[in-house]
Amino acid sequence: MRKKAALIFDVDLTLTEEYQQMPIFRAYLEKIREKYDGKNNPKIVTEPEEYFPVLCDDTNIDIGIGSMEQLLIDVRDGTFEGLTNEKMREEFGPKVKLAEGLEIWLPSITDDAKFLDLDLSSHAISAGTKPLIEGLKIAHHFSSIRAGEYEQENGKLTRVKTIVDPYKKTDPLKEICKGEKVEKRRRLKDYEILYDCVVGFGDGQSDQRILNFIKELGGISIGVFKKGDQEDYYRCVRDLAGFVHYIVPRDYTYGNTLDNLTRKSLKLIAKRTCTFDFRLISALNQQHLRHPELIDITKKHLSECQDCYERSKPTQFYFE
Ligand SMILES: [Zn+2]
Repeated sequence: MRKKAALIFDVDLTLTEEYQQMPIFRAYLEKIREKYDGKNNPKIVTEPEEYFPVLCDDTNIDIGIGSMEQLLIDVRDGTFEGLTNEKMREEFGPKVKLAEGLEIWLPSITDDAKFLDLDLSSHAISAGTKPLIEGLKIAHHFSSIRAGEYEQENGKLTRVKTIVDPYKKTDPLKEICKGEKVEKRRRLKDYEILYDCVVGFGDGQSDQRILNFIKELGGISIGVFKKGDQEDYYRCVRDLAGFVHYIVPRDYTYGNTLDNLTRKSLKLIAKRTCTFDFRLISALNQQHLRHPELIDITKKHLSECQDCYERSKPTQFYFE
């Protein structure tokens, strides 16, 4: 049986070049302008991007829980007239601009993983909206999508059914790794997908926790920024340095840095035979280990195990 491994993706600005709601905002721009014209609203919206501060608060562009409610309000008052789950899935999802190279890369990396004797699956975890992600041109490559959902009655969105808290993405990650149909308490080593077989991808502050969680448990985590954009690079470094293994440009083209590092990570996962509890190594590196004997054992292991050493390296930066 092949070893199970997983790629875990944030969606907005990790797999895409724009927020997943952008095609909606472009389509309804006139209506948005009408509503948020500065007369009836303190905010003036003239370009699609400017609708985001309405969705979120001004300081935090991470799309969160409030954004799903706000969208619903704007559906109800006719700003997004006729917006339904189907419309999001069929009309707007496919229009979201994907990251460079992704459409070819995702199926090929999954295929190539077989040669490493890995059974690789891909999963999306997003604070966004499930039907939009289901509509992405790469959606059929995902084994699971965890994102917010709307309830719909008689062709109208009625209420928010589920949300994914952008700062609590570790919860859906645990579900994925634990596997379905499983009693709540399961020992880590009995998980369907082991954490040291996970590669996580994210771009921003809200991904800090999940990417750090993956890293601390022996998996590999990767932060991305807009290629060639120095400002976005520094933002990514500020948000994710120390919490990920690599900070690289968001370009999935074959042979580029992101592709190379993902393949390197998968090789590491395929080769891993070490069963040492990686949490001890993370604790050692953070000077959280207190017990002298445990410190000695962990130090000794780290000096002898190339695999654990690789996984415990500090963040490597690639500005391109
Ligand atoms: Zn080891």
